[in-house]
Formats: sequence, C-alpha cells, structure tokens
Amino acid sequence: MSIPAPFADAGDVVHFIGGQRTAGSQARRQAVYNPATGAVARQVVLADGGDVERAVAAARAAFAGWAQTPPVRRARVMFKFLELMNRHRDELAAIITAEHGKVFSDAQGEVTRGIEVIEFACGIPELLKGDYTEQVSTGIDNWTVRQPLGVVAGITPFNFPCMVPCWMFPVALAAGNCFVLKPSERDPSASLFMAELLAQAGLPPGVFSVVQGDKAAVDALLEHPDVQAVSFVGSTPIARYIYERGAHFGKRVQALGGAKNHLVVMPDADVDQAVDALIGAAYGSAGERCMAISVAVLVGDIADQVVAKVAERARSLVVADGMRADAEMGPIVSRQALERIEGLIASGVEQGAKLVVDGRGLKVPGREEGFFTGGTLFDHVTPDMRIYREEIFGPVLSCVRVPDFAAALDLINRHEFGNGVACYTRDGNVAREFGRRIQCGMVGINVPIPVPMAWHGFGGWRGSLFGDMHAYGKEGVRFYTRQKSIMQRWPESTAKGAEFAMPTAK
Ligand code: NAD
Repeated sequence: MSIPAPFADAGDVVHFIGGQRTAGSQARRQAVYNPATGAVARQVVLADGGDVERAVAAARAAFAGWAQTPPVRRARVMFKFLELMNRHRDELAAIITAEHGKVFSDAQGEVTRGIEVIEFACGIPELLKGDYTEQVSTGIDNWTVRQPLGVVAGITPFNFPCMVPCWMFPVALAAGNCFVLKPSERDPSASLFMAELLAQAGLPPGVFSVVQGDKAAVDALLEHPDVQAVSFVGSTPIARYIYERGAHFGKRVQALGGAKNHLVVMPDADVDQAVDALIGAAYGSAGERCMAISVAVLVGDIADQVVAKVAERARSLVVADGMRADAEMGPIVSRQALERIEGLIASGVEQGAKLVVDGRGLKVPGREEGFFTGGTLFDHVTPDMRIYREEIFGPVLSCVRVPDFAAALDLINRHEFGNGVACYTRDGNVAREFGRRIQCGMVGINVPIPVPMAWHGFGGWRGSLFGDMHAYGKEGVRFYTRQKSIMQRWPESTAKGAEFAMPTAK
C-alpha cells in the first residue's frame, strides 16, 4: 500500500487555512514518528496565536455566506465529500497506520465509522426541520427553528485521527457553521488530507480550517471571542480543563474524556464468545481506544476458565507493523506512551496483582526500534490498585473476580469513568437489569465495543464526559445549533389597544 504523494515525502505537515495549505508562522515544529519503525517521518508545524487568529478570521468571514446557503445545497457538498472519502478510504487508512501504528484493517474500519457520520450529516435538511403550531391564540402562529452558532472549534486526540474529527465537523458544517479543527500533533496528516477533500467537494474557502498545534493553539481557540463552541475529545484532565476554561470564556462546550471500560462475564455466558470479545476489545488497536475493554469482571466460578483461555490467546497475538497483512496488533503511538504503559504494568506487580501474561520488552524482528509491547494479562486485580483505577491506554487487561451480579454492578458504578461497558450473558432478565442499572453512557449486551451508530450519538457519563450533549447524532445537531422561537400574527387579526396583562391564549 503506497501513501499518496503529498504525504510520501518528508515535507512538513502544515495548516490548512482559508482554502489552502500554509506553513503559518513556523515558530515551532515537532517530530511526527512512524511508531512501527521508531523513526521520525516528518515534522508538523505548531501554530501560534497569529495562526489561530488567521484561521478564525477566515471562518468568520466565510460564515455569513455559508450560513445563508440553503441546507439542501450544504448537503450536496457533504454528498460530494462522502463520495471522495469513499474513493480515498484506503489512502486515508494508510496515512493513519503510518502515523498512529494501528493495523491497516482497523484503520479502514475507523475511516468507515467516520464516513457513517458524513452520511448522517447528508440528511441535514430533515434534521434542521423545525416545529410549528398553528393558532396558539386567535390569529397567532408559533414556530421554532434551529440556526448555526458561527465559528466553532474541534480539538481531537491521537487515537482516531479520522473518526473523531468526523464525529464533529460534518454535522457542524452541514448545520451551517464554520469549523476550525486542531488535531493531535502526534498524527496530524489525516486532518490535512480531509481538508483537501472538503475543498475538492466544493466547500468554500474558510468554512473549514485545520490548525496544527499543541496547548498554545488550544488556548488561543478557547480564549478567542469569535469561537462560539468547542468540541473536545481526549484525556479526562484535559477535558476538564477545556470544559472549565471554555465556560469561563462563555462558550458552549462538550468535552469527552478518558475511560476504563468493564466487560462482565456472567456464569451462564458462552465462554468462547466472551473470550473472543475480550481478546478483540482489549488488544485491538493495542488498547488505544476509548472504548477498549480494560477490565474483565468475572462473576463466580467461570473465572478460572476465562483467564486460562484469554492467557493462551494473549500469548499468541501477532504483534507487527500495522501494514503487514497478518498483524493483529501494531505498535504504541510513542515511546513515551510505551514507557508509561510498561511503568503501570510494573505498578500492578508491585501492588500484588497476578501477572499472567507479561507483554513487556517485546521486540519485533526487522522493527527493533518500533514502539512495541505485547498483550499483558493480570488476574486477581483489586479496586485499590493503580492498574484498576487509572486509564492505561495500552494492551493490558485486568481481571477482577466478584461473587455475583450485584457486586459486578456495584464495582462498575463506583468507578471514576462511565464510558462504555458490556455484559456477556444468556439470561434475558440479567441483560435487562444490566442495561437499566449500570451507570455508563454506552452499554453492550453481548457486544464488546458498543460504539453507537451515527444517528444515536456518542458519550459517556461521570468523568468520561463534561457537558450536556453527546457527540454526533441528534445531540450533535443540537450542540451546533441554537433554537429560535418565532411568534407571528398579521394586522388583520390584531386587536386594537395596548394590553398590560401577561398575554394568554384568546
Ligand atoms: P490528550 O488529552 O493528551 O490530547 C487531546 C488533545 O488535547 C490533543 O489535540 C492535544 O494536542 C490537546 N492537549 C494535550 N494537552 C493539552 C493541554 N495541556 N492543554 C490544552 N490542550 C492539550 O489525549 P490523547 O493522548 O491524544 O488521546 C487519548 C485520550 O483520549 C485517552 O484518555 C482516551 O480515553 C481519550 N479518548 C476519549 C474518547 C471519548 O469519546 N471519550 C475518544 C477517543 C479518545
């Protein structure tokens, strides 16, 4: 699989502002690695306040025209963009694998899940349809419309460089906003690629911009008076910061944070199905998914069987360069992240968990400098341990043994995070009660990674989401629009004389 020309050279990854690529101030740069080889692939420019100002100014200038464009014509641009994304899906997936490390088929899947939100956004004329009530009083009608906010910003994490931006900008743009995206500086090329496809699809210059950067760019967006709303996806400490800082500057904010997703295996579950689910959801994408399963909650006497079968499979995972066709798991995104993961594994050993499979120190032949670690499995993990409390964001599965269903619910409902969760069972009543009583935003019954479809919306509870509204789906449309109520009558139905009492229906 060859990477398309603009990204195959070692040139800098730059911004996309006002409809074209620009290197901006170039005050600072940062290395972008290929995690499979450990080599620096290129540099990304990091925006300063001036670069952010140019992107926001271009967006502000474009807003009046774009907001006035009929929704059905905005949808046609989205249809064209959808077609281009489908045509270039594999190139985009190769860019993702080259900078993130995930295996190519997983990168293809990521692009597909992003494309689904674009498909949803193509329905914007229907989604923006308002409510109308005739004759709220004699001769008076009342209706509501939803209008775009203006310039909105998105700040996204490294782990889904295509899908997570697609949770945001297709809906925001289709609703009539102008969007400034600040992608992760660790894998910045996918955003630039999508900006160029949007331009090819006929999106007017300035409606969508990409500013590459780090905290300096984020802070400039949070403080900018012309940015009306901020969508964020990333770790919980930064999500909390974005929420508080954005609110301080009067912005609408949705900030999705970290996770510690549990999968409960009930004594009546199909063990082989549960083991398949645990292997894919714990070690897929090297555990670097916000919906990865990082805790197996084993109920009753099923535990020994599950641990033995997961251990056997974890030991034989094919860990390799993500572009290799047989790879099941690629490298970790950076050396720093790898060291953090292996440090947390050491803490688990120190705190008394049983290390059943140790993935540390793995060397992949021909890729000795790559950021690899193997799949790790712990048993007899307890809630006080760091490996249970903290998000590891790596291929580490912790097994916690509990006596019954009530203890499983109690354990999960006490955790700081409440993103995704799953329960494996054949008992309909257990399934129903689990769905009703669990305190998490996204629930899977015999489904390990229940990422909601594009029209349902994505979001966790507790420390996994700051703000009121989930990403994409109808909540996404609400987030990027505000409601206006219009009440109207015509002179023929207007009674003479001033009224001093509160108006009521007549
Ligand atoms: P991160 O929080 O380090 O970075 C996210 C974004 O914030 C990046 O664009 C980064 O440049 C910016 N940022 C980093 N430090 C900042 C600071 N001090 N001030 C301002 N901005 C800053 O997250 P990451 O490591 O890129 O991604 C992994 C995290 O994202 C995990 O915690 C994962 O659970 C989470 N995540 C959550 C979801 C979800 O839907 N809840 C989805 C994907 C990823």
